[in-house]
Amino acid sequence: MFSRMLTFSEAREIVIAQAKSRLTPRSTLSLPLNDALSHILAEEIRTDREYPPFHRSTRDGYAVHSTEAQPNASLRCVGEIKAGDTVHSPLSPGTCVQIMTGAALPPGADAVVMIEFTRRDGDHVSFERPTQSRQNFVPRGSEASAGGVALSPGLRLGYAEVAVAAQVGHPTLRCFQKPRIAILSTGDEVVPITESPGPFHIRNSNSVSLAAQVQLAGGTPLPLGNALDRVDDLSAKIEQGLREEILVLSGGVSMGKYDLVESVLKGMGAEFYFDAVAIRPGKPAVFGRCRNTLIFGLPGNPVSTMVTFQLFAIPALDILSGAPSRPLPFLEATLAESVKEKPGLTHFLPARLTWQNARPEVRVLRWQGSGDIGALAQSNCFAVVPWDRPEIPIGEPVEVLPRMDVL
Ligand code: AMP
Ligand code: MG
Repeated sequence: MFSRMLTFSEAREIVIAQAKSRLTPRSTLSLPLNDALSHILAEEIRTDREYPPFHRSTRDGYAVHSTEAQPNASLRCVGEIKAGDTVHSPLSPGTCVQIMTGAALPPGADAVVMIEFTRRDGDHVSFERPTQSRQNFVPRGSEASAGGVALSPGLRLGYAEVAVAAQVGHPTLRCFQKPRIAILSTGDEVVPITESPGPFHIRNSNSVSLAAQVQLAGGTPLPLGNALDRVDDLSAKIEQGLREEILVLSGGVSMGKYDLVESVLKGMGAEFYFDAVAIRPGKPAVFGRCRNTLIFGLPGNPVSTMVTFQLFAIPALDILSGAPSRPLPFLEATLAESVKEKPGLTHFLPARLTWQNARPEVRVLRWQGSGDIGALAQSNCFAVVPWDRPEIPIGEPVEVLPRMDVL
């Protein structure tokens, strides 16, 4: 149907452009911070005051006037300040105050001397080293000014982001509703995981892995079960999936007589933007639209399903979530054993990344092809063998795509 097979990057660009062209205002909901994790922020959060709100000591020691706290000088210690204490009285000349990490400097103090570099004799303190002005405290307002933007809409909420909301006094956050992703597996051989398979049946692991990937990516999975390789069953279940923003199907997109997904979708009015990508596993991946639903027809072999979901479905999910699409987090590692693959396709090989003295090394795992889920469960990444460089010797750098969940 399409003249030249797309590279995976070109296919992703198509997904991103289509998802952007379909963006409509999303509904929002207010969530307590711990439930807001992995949502996309829908409001702007501003700081309620300066941060830090006072000159905050970063050490246990003595708050001093720096000009006075020099070697051979001795200052009288007139009290102590611990974290949380209210501090009003200015530091008088010739004195110092014992101070704890996190406590507020008294007015007039311009440095903290670490306790390790002082000597105490009764209420007198002497100093081993010269003291610099501004040492060992974070000045008031240096992290954030009052009323400044702390978190912007479109931000993905991770643990640091919810911590900022907590810090500035927002126990709840207005977030975008997560996109709902319908998941439909196909195949006469596929049985529910709660049933005993016949000798020639296989359990529906794709619906499980896809739901997990949807969840990890920040979507809400809606599993629709399995459709038989029959027009009536497929159409009825696809019809249910078309109520959602994205429908992900597994299986039925190859060239076999019973691979009916594309033709059934076409009969329901779908248009397709690609139906093959120059990758292995995952070459017959299909992307299109039917009514208002984006459709991913992913090949049914489990590793193909997993790889193509990560490459193509996540960018759509990101954009519909209200966020920019995340780049593929490639990194470079040294190949621990040479590889040789078929040219013309970019290969994503289950592999294991380890670090030797902070230097990444990657080893491709033995596997029996794209049905080998067990091999993938031993992996933590995919080693990428580019379509135009099918042979890579040991010791050469290769690109590695971390799995989205275990690295
Ligand atoms: P297909 O893409 O429909 O030709 O499926 C290719 C192979 O993937 C099948 O022969 C099955 O072994 C496997 N497969 C298909 N669907 C599933 C599924 N839902 N769960 C696990 N394996 C599947
Ligand atoms: Mg099939």
